[in-house]
Amino acid sequence: MLFRGSFRNNLLLFYSVVFLVFIFLMLAYLYKREKDYRTGTLNDELHNIVKITEKYIASNSIHEKKNYRILDSLVKLLPQSNLRVTIVDKVGVVLYDSSVPNWSSMENHNSRPEIIQASEEQFGTSVRRSGSTGQSYYYYAEFLEGYYTRAAVIYDVNIENFLTAKKNFLLIILAAFIGIWIAMLVITNKFSESITKLRDFAEHVGRNEPFDFESKFPKNEIGFIGEEILTIYNNLLQTKNDLATEKEKLFSHLDALNEGVAFFSKDRSIILNNDHFIQLMNMISGDLKIFTSNFFEIPEFNEIIDFIDKYSNTEITSPDLPKTEYQVTKDGRFFRIQCVIFNDKSFEVILSDVTKVGKSKLIKQQMTSNIAHELKTPVSSVKGYIETLLNDPSMEEKQQKYFLEKALAQTDRLTGLINDIVVLNKIEEAGTTFEVEKVKVKKTIKEVAENFKSAIEARTIKVDIDIESDVTVKGNKSLILSIFQNLIENAINYAGDNTTIKIIVYNEDKKFYHFSLSDNGVGIPEEHMSRIFERFYRIDSGRSRKSGGTGLGLAIVKNAVLLHKGDILVRNRAGGGTEFLFTLPK
Ligand code: ATP
Ligand code: MG
Repeated sequence: MLFRGSFRNNLLLFYSVVFLVFIFLMLAYLYKREKDYRTGTLNDELHNIVKITEKYIASNSIHEKKNYRILDSLVKLLPQSNLRVTIVDKVGVVLYDSSVPNWSSMENHNSRPEIIQASEEQFGTSVRRSGSTGQSYYYYAEFLEGYYTRAAVIYDVNIENFLTAKKNFLLIILAAFIGIWIAMLVITNKFSESITKLRDFAEHVGRNEPFDFESKFPKNEIGFIGEEILTIYNNLLQTKNDLATEKEKLFSHLDALNEGVAFFSKDRSIILNNDHFIQLMNMISGDLKIFTSNFFEIPEFNEIIDFIDKYSNTEITSPDLPKTEYQVTKDGRFFRIQCVIFNDKSFEVILSDVTKVGKSKLIKQQMTSNIAHELKTPVSSVKGYIETLLNDPSMEEKQQKYFLEKALAQTDRLTGLINDIVVLNKIEEAGTTFEVEKVKVKKTIKEVAENFKSAIEARTIKVDIDIESDVTVKGNKSLILSIFQNLIENAINYAGDNTTIKIIVYNEDKKFYHFSLSDNGVGIPEEHMSRIFERFYRIDSGRSRKSGGTGLGLAIVKNAVLLHKGDILVRNRAGGGTEFLFTLPK
């Protein structure tokens, strides 16, 4: 590569070529001037000889006597050495030639250029090698009195002679060339260092290789430019790195998001998206083999296409960027689809799975109607009893008491129901903190059994508590109590007479006690198992209807266990009956 040779070499080469061309042109000019001068002098000189010859011919009547030979004596007398005089008649026949003794055998001269020129102009000249003598002559001819008189001298203005004559001049030029060359060497030395460095820098940057930024540029104009370029480059590099870090941050932020996010360019090609975006696209479209490039083919996203089309020819000015949002449902899941169009018509699509939100909304609605339904029954009973009492003032006291007791029982039920709802809401309310303490499990269970003493006795149920007295769980006392109370109450209500309730710690690990609370009663039909923990869910058997429960008990149990970061599940025992397995923290 020519450029690999240093900048200085190139500069010197360029200088040498220019200098040599200049010298050549100058010599050519001088040579031409020398030649013109020589020609002019020769013309004058030869014109004089022609004139003398003519006068000599006239005074000696040579043309008339045709004794041209006597011209030899004239030629000899003339001072010029190598002079040649020729007389040619008007048709080109040579009448005399001083250099050719037998001129009568010479060929016709009417085609000689100087003769042709002299026939048309005042005189004619030419430089040629003579056919007769073999030497180069400068010919000069004039046409006078019907004859051509031609004089010629040996012509010696050739390059070689000229250059030999200019030897000194050439030596001076050569010295000047070398002088300037050395001067240039010194000057370019300074600049070439900067330029070589700049070139190295450019090559390194071009190949994406590191460059030694420590080495300083020389202190000259190019060095200064080099420093500036380096500073600009460093700034650019810094900005590039900063951008890369920002991009990295953005990427990890996008990946950490629960939403699927994608950016599209104005021409609807994908610029950037996170993994969630593809997952959610798959879920929404129901097609697992879908790519982001298929985005616009999915019917669920048609609304987005319409939205973008609507703004395609409208100027968009921030801060009011156009936004759209809608929900789609697919396979029982709810998805929110959002789109924002930016100033440059690029746009962002955000997909989010809002099933939880959607579901809890649904559950809230169900719960409200369930609560209303549950409240209506006891309230209308109470109302009925009171109306009966009011309508019949003559009612017997015994009967009155009966109705009042019934009404009281219903209000008890109402109180219980409202308490349950309050507890459930409290557990679910985000941010609600429960007081936590060490709760002795065996003592708590004994307390519960004591409360249900009469029912237990009435149904001849055995409560078997196989737990060490020192087993304590860390939790909220009233919630822990509520767990055991609801489970034991259910066993008493639904398992049946003459059954045994057994409560054991069957396992423990670093953090949890694993409890089992079982009975050997009727059990829960398999088809209800999965829904048993839902609020207001009751198995519509004669027994549970009679017990007048509301279906909130197990929901409270499950939520209380979850609040303590434990787990709960239910299963039917092989030998009959129901078993609840749950964990509570140590
Ligand atoms: P509440 O407890 O709110 O007064 P409930 O007892 O009906 O009303 P849950 O405690 O949630 O509501 O129980 C739901 C249903 O599960 C009961 O109606 C009952 O049919 C069934 N069940 C619960 N425990 C048992 C059990 N040990 N044996 C048989 N069935 C049970
Ligand atoms: Mg219950």
